[in-house]
Amino acid sequence: MTNDELYRLLRAKYGFTSFRPGQLEVISKLLNGQDVLAVLPTGTGKSLIYQLVGSVVSGLVVVVSPLISLMQDQVARLNYQGEKRVAALTSQLAFGVRQHLLNHLTSIKYLFVSPEMLSQPAVLTALTTVPLALFVVDEAHCISTWGPDFRPDYQSLGQLRTTLGQPRTLMLTATATQHVRHDIVTQLGVPGAQQVLYSVNRPNIYLAVATLSDEAAKRARLQQLVTGVRGPAIVYFSSKRQTDLTADWLREQTGLRVAAYHAGLSAEDRFKIQQQFMAGDLDVICATSAFGMGINKADIRMVIHYHLPTTLADYVQEIGRAGRDGEPSLAMILYVAGDENLVRNLNELTAASPNEIALDFDRFTHKREPASEVSQVLQYYWQHGADVATVSQLFEKRARAKERELQALMAYVTSSTCRRAVMLTYFDETAPQHDERCCQLDGAPLPLAALGLTRSAT
Ligand code: ADP
Ligand code: MG
Repeated sequence: MTNDELYRLLRAKYGFTSFRPGQLEVISKLLNGQDVLAVLPTGTGKSLIYQLVGSVVSGLVVVVSPLISLMQDQVARLNYQGEKRVAALTSQLAFGVRQHLLNHLTSIKYLFVSPEMLSQPAVLTALTTVPLALFVVDEAHCISTWGPDFRPDYQSLGQLRTTLGQPRTLMLTATATQHVRHDIVTQLGVPGAQQVLYSVNRPNIYLAVATLSDEAAKRARLQQLVTGVRGPAIVYFSSKRQTDLTADWLREQTGLRVAAYHAGLSAEDRFKIQQQFMAGDLDVICATSAFGMGINKADIRMVIHYHLPTTLADYVQEIGRAGRDGEPSLAMILYVAGDENLVRNLNELTAASPNEIALDFDRFTHKREPASEVSQVLQYYWQHGADVATVSQLFEKRARAKERELQALMAYVTSSTCRRAVMLTYFDETAPQHDERCCQLDGAPLPLAALGLTRSAT
């Protein structure tokens, strides 16, 4: 297909006039029969790549995805576009429904599936009976044990791909260091895959950190920012309670239109708030990281982190919601010494000591109730015949990965030199020359006027 034809298809089928950076390049390579690892920032429209390829290549598009919510989101979006030949094969499906689906795969175009579901013999067998257009691994960084997000069930994907006859493969992720990229292509058995990499750098987002003496100073600075800087703004918190409390407080203090958003709200309320925000009826959203996936508002001017993000990769994603229109925007972290311990505590929730692991194994082999919080992950290992020592090692590795991520984040937060350079170096990129529109160096005032970010009196 020529580029002209692809543009026509983009307009006709999706109603977009231009491709986002990277989309066309990846699509062309796939249509030329190459396997591709695409590292494109969140919100680029990575899904459109496999949707479009699927619409021109015959056969089934299998999309491996780590979360049921992500799958459901994709199914809903495709349905909304008028594509009905879509299904998500999840453990939530009743056995009969699943069976029916597997017997009618030829009437499906896009099949979303978890790695665990894919490894079921019945599923694999059914998939080998239909032609595959494309094998997609979404959130492909989950395969790397080097990263903090690694998912044990992603590790069997290389073997499953072989069983499926090594179909053309597309690996998608938003942020991957060189080390993680290497892990992805080796483990999936496609070392020769084309890599399409786009920078995580967003030059129009001014980077800043305010180091404050205590919580009261933090709140005062937050108030100052939301009243002094042009919105709309997102303020991220790590707890639902703080999100609610601060939203109420900010509304009273400032008279601005402020709402809270987190997973504790009903789906209806979440939808309503999202709509209000999209329509420009809210100035500030106080949110947990539950807010943002699929948010595509072009004119968000400010993203504040009241609590630290968990990793630099998360940070890049979360601030990436600002300034989609290319206009100057502000990313600000409010930091009080010791805040990093909150991240450490959260990390520990998903950790497991060798003792806990051994206990869980014992419970599993004796078919007793699951022992620990991390049991879902552990279950997977036990079902696949892993032993306690191997699993303990993997968990240690993951704990080290998380601590490494936190150190990298703290290097950014506490840096006295150009923060953009710190961030980009971490992602194996070279930073552009620092200038006054780049980031805030120690003690310098925010150049709000120069950036055109001052809130005008209303
Ligand atoms: P990613 O997976 O890269 O984070 P998604 O696939 O979820 O991003 O897409 C994010 C949004 O971008 C979606 O609302 C999608 O419709 C939109 N989008 C995708 N491609 C384009 C395009 N070429 N032009 C405009 N919007 C697009
Ligand atoms: Mg995506």
